[in-house]
Amino acid sequence: MRAFEATRLDFDRAADHMDLTDNMRRLLLIPMREVQVQIPVEMDRGDIATFIGYRVQHNNSRGPMKGGLRYHPEVDLDEVRSLAALMTWKTAVVNLPYGGAKGGIAIDPRSMSLRELERVTRKFIDQIHDIIGPDIDIPAPDMGTGAEYMAWIMNQYAKYHGFSPACVTGKPVELYGLPGRDEATGRGVGIFVIKLLSRLGRKPQDTRVAIQGFGNVGSHTASFLQDAQCPVVAVSDVSGGYYRPQGLDLSSMFRYVREHQGSLQGYTGAQTISNAELLELDVEMLIPAALGGVLTAENAGRVKAKIIVEGANAPVHPDADEIFDSRGITVLPDILANAGGVTASYFEWVQNRQHYQWGINRVRQELDRVLSEAFERVWELAHERKVSLRTAAYIQGIGRVGRATVLGGIT
Ligand code: NAD
Repeated sequence: MRAFEATRLDFDRAADHMDLTDNMRRLLLIPMREVQVQIPVEMDRGDIATFIGYRVQHNNSRGPMKGGLRYHPEVDLDEVRSLAALMTWKTAVVNLPYGGAKGGIAIDPRSMSLRELERVTRKFIDQIHDIIGPDIDIPAPDMGTGAEYMAWIMNQYAKYHGFSPACVTGKPVELYGLPGRDEATGRGVGIFVIKLLSRLGRKPQDTRVAIQGFGNVGSHTASFLQDAQCPVVAVSDVSGGYYRPQGLDLSSMFRYVREHQGSLQGYTGAQTISNAELLELDVEMLIPAALGGVLTAENAGRVKAKIIVEGANAPVHPDADEIFDSRGITVLPDILANAGGVTASYFEWVQNRQHYQWGINRVRQELDRVLSEAFERVWELAHERKVSLRTAAYIQGIGRVGRATVLGGIT
């Protein structure tokens, strides 16, 4: 099953509980615009390489579209389309005045120099600058990109449209960025975990956690949960998994990653395991925070965790979701669980438009407020309708987008 088909299945499961006509389903599912561009760049060796870049703008009925930019060798149109749709439901679940979009370039950033990546990014903006902008579509970081890339985007966009820091979020704090944007997705995952544990009547200190991914989302989630007394016993990155049953020494891992170009490869403070083994560890909570599609019908039966929190986008395949449901495993869905990032991006956009710098305490306080309200509403809806948290989140998101579409007028 391809990525967009999986997103569509989740949409349909929720739409079946709503009073949605087939025509309305079609209108809400089909992306508004899809753009694919050629990106020829001169590499450091002097040869020319040509990459493919995508921007899918899924829906703008609730506001300008918002979504990250992913650099990964497996990026393709179907994946970007699916992630753009997820952004539409995500911004609606947390009630931000945005629609959904996503972009990506099929490249392996680890095999390229920073200067090459800068040239690729600027060239991509040359190709799409007229369909993005503060009131149209606002990119942000995702897998394989970060604050520096967003600074290049802001600078390149300004060459065409003038000074406009709100055209992109996730920028460095020194360059119109928001204090706390970097930690926001992981912090948000942590806030949701604590809320969920409280609703499920579980104590943080009795909840051993395994996290797949030690990048932006995984590392900040680990740090927040450790501060909240949850024992983080395993984390992984592309180099493999690291397991310490009595709890990882996270500060030594952060230090190691800083000293080894962001990688845990060669870290000796824990037992090494594979990424596949990490997913099946004997823990209470599993947080996939790296790639999509890692929990499938094949491995879902072997997962021992009783709670899964989707830090990554679409880590649970719909077939696996059914298995988890039948096994009584609680899944907190991506469109809620990792919405802290886009929420902080919204604050950054507001800050840029107001030309008023927010402080970290205000960011954290507002983040907590927005995410807590969204969590409570989805939790209540799941219990009122007797549906999973994923279906409840979709019902909430689709409902809001559908109402805005009708109120705004369709033709
Ligand atoms: P990142 O690039 O900072 O980190 C990705 C991590 O995944 C790294 O530790 C990398 O080593 C690891 N990884 C890569 N390939 C792997 C593999 N084959 N097996 C195991 N681990 C692997 O990315 P990120 O920003 O942390 O994003 C992670 C996920 O969270 C993505 O699905 C992304 O769409 C989602 N997300 C990110 C944000 C955000 O604000 N960064 C917001 C919402 C959702």
